[in-house]
Amino acid sequence: MNATGAVAAAVVPAAGRGERLGPGAPKALRELGGVPLLVHAVRALTRSRAVGLVVVAAPADGVAEVVGLLDTHGLDGKDIRVVPGGATRQESVRLGLAAIPAEVEIVLVHDAARPLVPVEVVDAVAAAVRGGAEAVVPAVPLADTVKRVEPRPAGPEPVLDTPDRSTLRAVQTPQGFRRETLAEVHEKALAEEAAAGADALPAVTDDAGLVERFGGRVVVVPGHEEAFKVTRPLDLVLAEAVLARRRAADAY
Ligand code: C5P
Repeated sequence: MNATGAVAAAVVPAAGRGERLGPGAPKALRELGGVPLLVHAVRALTRSRAVGLVVVAAPADGVAEVVGLLDTHGLDGKDIRVVPGGATRQESVRLGLAAIPAEVEIVLVHDAARPLVPVEVVDAVAAAVRGGAEAVVPAVPLADTVKRVEPRPAGPEPVLDTPDRSTLRAVQTPQGFRRETLAEVHEKALAEEAAAGADALPAVTDDAGLVERFGGRVVVVPGHEEAFKVTRPLDLVLAEAVLARRRAADAY
């Protein structure tokens, strides 16, 4: 595949332990329908004609294992690279980004923990960047009402306020960026952390959040309910059900 020009490259941060899922293997290597979450996520990206290269940021001590898994699951013919990830998601993304050839202009960042993202979402995000947006996130409206609280380690937490739900979106991945924008905000964040210390800065849990922090413009395109993140044990149960439904539909 050709990884240049309008064809996007995707970074998959997959180096997290995933402790909220319970003890065991790193989250990206947990299985769903007998296949590691990471393999599902990489397959979902390679299904998109918009994506020409996938760079996986693996657990630092698990690079060989991840290369082996991708081969075992038939992804060895694709343009996929595996690099060691970092101590934080942000660092894993930065290390993945560094492995993308300089001529690639569009970069998607997709969590390994979102194994079932439909190809339509990947295509829509890449198309929006190609169409001129510097940062694009897929998102869905919220079912629950959300309250801002004053966090307390124990005991009731005081409620501060209730944002208008109609203005809120739950953000998914892949998030898409002009490569220049993504590289620049990661560099700035690194410089700020070196100056102020990582703990002195507000936590950023997604890449678009970094773009916002430095004054960039982020737009939302429709996400999909099946692009949910596998975080807690119940998410795995739901993911198994979605996969079973897909496999049943394919059999007919
Ligand atoms: O912990 P969380 O669910 O937010 O992780 C989101 C994604 O970031 C996961 O795919 C995880 O593997 C990845 N990650 C990483 N490097 C870390 C921590 C998380 O690549 N040090």
